[in-house]
Amino acid sequence: MPDPIIEPQDAISAEVRRWVDQEVIPVVEELEHKNIFPEQLVEGMKQLGLFELMIPQDQGGIGASYVTYSGVVEELARGWMSLGGILNTHVIVTHLVAEFGTDQQKNKYLPQMSNASRRGALTITEPNAGSDVQAIETVASLEDKHYVVNGSKLFVSNGRRGGIFAMAVKTDPNTKPRYKGISCLLVEPEFEGFNVTRDIEKLGYKGIEAAELSIDNMRVPQENLLGGEEGQGFFQVLSGVEVGRVNTAARAVGVARAAFEASIKYAQQRKAFGKQIGDHQAIQLKLADMYTNITAARLLARWAAGIKDQGGRADTEVGMAKLFATEVATEATLETMRIHGGIGYTKELPVERYFRDAPGMMIYEGTNEIQRTIIAKNLLQRYALD
Ligand SMILES: Cc1cc2nc3c(=O)[nH]c(=O)nc-3n(C[C@H](O)[C@H](O)[C@H](O)COP(=O)(O)OP(=O)(O)OC[C@H]3O[C@@H](n4cnc5c(N)ncnc54)[C@H](O)[C@@H]3O)c2cc1C
Repeated sequence: MPDPIIEPQDAISAEVRRWVDQEVIPVVEELEHKNIFPEQLVEGMKQLGLFELMIPQDQGGIGASYVTYSGVVEELARGWMSLGGILNTHVIVTHLVAEFGTDQQKNKYLPQMSNASRRGALTITEPNAGSDVQAIETVASLEDKHYVVNGSKLFVSNGRRGGIFAMAVKTDPNTKPRYKGISCLLVEPEFEGFNVTRDIEKLGYKGIEAAELSIDNMRVPQENLLGGEEGQGFFQVLSGVEVGRVNTAARAVGVARAAFEASIKYAQQRKAFGKQIGDHQAIQLKLADMYTNITAARLLARWAAGIKDQGGRADTEVGMAKLFATEVATEATLETMRIHGGIGYTKELPVERYFRDAPGMMIYEGTNEIQRTIIAKNLLQRYALD
């Protein structure tokens, strides 16, 4: 009987696992603690074809399924969650261009994204707009076939090294309902007026930058309006964030699995009161709960990815997977720290990294409170009384 959470799900995941074991795990602690962007590992991810993985075949990519993607991201995150984050916004933006882009946008950007000469970043959040996406204040006004953009953006993952940004802006700030005034622009960081002002220090999720952007009279050619029609941005970026939630659910399973693997090993190595700690029932309960929850989270993550593969929106299913898997990861990483006792709280072992990485996933890609509100809203619609 194959172990449901230990066996890689397919050949690509198995290849990524081999690469993670050989190339990532030996270097991750140094990169993490020095907060170094993993250039070498990104090269390795390119060689593995990960940046073209989710680009449709008819647009020059590999065209993998979301189920495959979920497995690949889990393997990456088992080694280092940040690698899943580097891939995440790239896949979101390739999805946006492939799904909504004009032919010109697809022809220009997808080949550059396939070979990772431009890696994608998604920028929605602002100082006064996080969960409430419709509150964004960055304004784009059309002048002489260019959008002139002004505003500021926060927490842009891959914001310093991204090569193409899907940027949510208001093209009509006064329209009601507010979402109708939102559009999405494809922004190259070479455009004048695009400024990275700082990298925000984080608890975990090291190596990858969360940048702050200042956008000052940036001129974006009109042809870079995603899909060529104003007012579509809200639904476009939400569709992108949903793809991000497939990634985040898988990343959470990967981190939780790393925590479990460390725990099951340590439980058989460490002795207390004359026996292995794994022979104490208190530790056994933790191992059993951890494994049960991770298995459930993994099944939910893959199931939701499978629903996403059927096409269209899957915000209830993907939201449930993101919600459950990230809560499981947060709990599992804390339990792993308990199982490891004092050494688990030190920088001698990666356990403290898992513990720092997990809770961020409850917040970004839509907080878990927001996931619950989306799930409940959809359920009330689905089960509405006549
Ligand atoms: C490491 C990191 C990376 C990120 N990367 C990106 C990125 O690449 N691109 C990007 O655009 N953004 C990114 N973000 C931003 C992230 O998506 C937001 O932080 C997140 O959506 C929450 O927004 P907020 O921080 O403004 O919190 P707020 O919206 O201010 O929420 C504060 C609290 O209120 C709760 N709350 C708010 N509204 C409701 C409601 N209606 N019902 C119930 N509870 C509510 C929230 O759940 C939360 O608990 C990143 C954030 C982090 C920390």
